[in-house]
Amino acid sequence: MATGKHPKPTPAKKTEAVPHTKTPAVLEEPLSAPYEQTDPPDVEQLGKSTWTLLHLIAATYPEEPTSKEQADLKQFVKLFGNFYPCWFCAEDFRGYVQTNEPDTTTQDKFGKWLCNAHNEVNVKLGKPKFDCDLWKKRWKDGWE
Ligand SMILES: Cc1cc2nc3c(=O)[nH]c(=O)nc-3n(C[C@H](O)[C@H](O)[C@H](O)COP(=O)(O)OP(=O)(O)OC[C@H]3O[C@@H](n4cnc5c(N)ncnc54)[C@H](O)[C@@H]3O)c2cc1C
Repeated sequence: MATGKHPKPTPAKKTEAVPHTKTPAVLEEPLSAPYEQTDPPDVEQLGKSTWTLLHLIAATYPEEPTSKEQADLKQFVKLFGNFYPCWFCAEDFRGYVQTNEPDTTTQDKFGKWLCNAHNEVNVKLGKPKFDCDLWKKRWKDGWE
């Protein structure tokens, strides 16, 4: 309940600009200041990061997956092809998945399926093929 002891604050007039001589210190730095001014990734950067993610998914996929895990991973691979943010890469990848059904029955089989899918792109780009018997050394166990 108002006692009348304190003067009421005068409301700012609607037309009056808010005094703004100096930006408060907290806003002087650009919002992204702690981060590098990095440009959006190009097709190569996107590809390298994505292969890392996909091969690591293979490396952490169960060695003996349940039927649900097998179905989920297969669906993930197919949906991934619908949303990969490089349209011409995605188009070819979808074609590859259509003619080479992802084998999600074991970790090793999926790791090799993915390795072959990656090799398909390597060949298209004139890069050497990776030896798919070594996929676990590169992405799971290391070379020792
Ligand atoms: C689904 C998909 C489709 C793509 N399609 C295209 C395309 O159409 N055109 C295009 O220009 N780029 C495409 N890219 C990107 C391209 O594949 C490369 O990622 C990019 O050129 C960078 O190559 P990189 O030499 O750095 O190594 P990357 O090919 O990105 O490979 C990263 C690392 O993976 C390891 N590696 C290489 N081959 C294999 C393999 N077969 N199995 C397991 N490990 C391997 C190597 O240690 C390598 O250093 C695609 C990427 C993805 C994820």
